[in-house]
Amino acid sequence: MGKNFDEMAWHEYELGFMVTRPGCAAEYRTGDWRSQRPETDKSKCIKCGVCYLVCPEGAIGLAADGTYDFDLEHCKGCGICATECWTGCIRMIEEDE
Ligand code: SF4
Ligand code: SF4
Repeated sequence: MGKNFDEMAWHEYELGFMVTRPGCAAEYRTGDWRSQRPETDKSKCIKCGVCYLVCPEGAIGLAADGTYDFDLEHCKGCGICATECWTGCIRMIEEDE
């Protein structure tokens, strides 16, 4: 078996390997990359938490009322939350809307 990644020097990584630490996305303001942003019709939200679970950026957080809010500093606008929401209450809107 080969070495673990954290035991390897950078020049031993495979070509194309991304050099970063896991879980560090929150350190970068990635929201500026986005062309669309998610918006929720909270009257239809059943508070299931699926959007929170599927967001690859960890950009969805629990709100005080049990629904979920978006951290637009880190949301990249991928639309996964809107695709996976059971009730269809999340829609993606253009940034300039
Ligand atoms: S659009 Fe993508 S990055 Fe933004 S909150 Fe939804 S799943 Fe997360
Ligand atoms: S997936 Fe949809 S219904 Fe479920 S908590 Fe998120 S916004 Fe609400």
